[in-house]
Amino acid sequence: MRPEVVATIAALRARTRAAGSVAFVPTMGALHEGHLTLAREAARRGELAVMSIFVNPLQFGPNEDFSRYPRPLEADLDKAGEAGTHLVFAPTPDEMYPPGDQTRVAVPALARGLCGPHRPGHFDGVATVVCKLLNAVGPCVAIFGRKDYQQLKVIERMVRDLAIPAEIVGMPIVREPDGLAMSSRNAYLSPPERERALSLSRGLASARAIFAAGERDAAALRAAAHSPVAAAADSIDYVTVADPESLEELASAVGDRALVAIAARIGRTRLIDNVVLPGLGAAT
Ligand code: AMP
Repeated sequence: MRPEVVATIAALRARTRAAGSVAFVPTMGALHEGHLTLAREAARRGELAVMSIFVNPLQFGPNEDFSRYPRPLEADLDKAGEAGTHLVFAPTPDEMYPPGDQTRVAVPALARGLCGPHRPGHFDGVATVVCKLLNAVGPCVAIFGRKDYQQLKVIERMVRDLAIPAEIVGMPIVREPDGLAMSSRNAYLSPPERERALSLSRGLASARAIFAAGERDAAALRAAAHSPVAAAADSIDYVTVADPESLEELASAVGDRALVAIAARIGRTRLIDNVVLPGLGAAT
């Protein structure tokens, strides 16, 4: 069934106030199976399953893809409804950031590494919009993908620090059959670029394989992840082996768990992917 659509916080609150348990999935739309897995989980967990579709200007840098980011709202509503979403909140930028808006949320230490230096202000934009969305929706539970692993950690920290009364759930990365992590930005890739984009998941698979064989040297794990990406990408923002909770880069030996995360550009498209080792197979 097609979900009901509301565009204002007032209309959203009128609808959620009367509901029992609310489960929430924030998205920027251009929905794919990764988003829909989160939506199905929300429908399973909440009496009212709410999705937001909002391309948040605050989290895009001046030279990023805000204006060309895909916005196929009608198709998204069909997909969201099929995945069990009852209500879609699709605000305008003015509704989220009315004239005079000035408050920002920052989670500085977790935003410092990985994507932080390459996307200045990005995580402040993410934390601010997610804080506001959680306040507007008032869910018991909010569901995020581990595809954006650093974002998930920033949000978990923010929710604890600000005592926001929502449980945060992180779901596994959904991949194409050949391993490519699903992303709205994959739509930008030409067929040859899409082939080169597989280097990210291949790099992570190499790191996972040597970890499974006993390798615990951070530099060796990093090198295994780096080499296919170096051969195929136009540029690499980072290939990092880090502590999965603090996100601090690991300099020498890794323990039982390690995050391996990659950000690289294929053509004009910036892609990210990660695995938390030991991992649970291809879909981790
Ligand atoms: P976005 O629309 O890119 O802001 O993503 C909305 C939510 O969907 C975020 O929590 C993402 O981590 C999650 N997501 C995006 N791609 C995937 C994927 N391939 N697997 C799992 N979750 C994903």
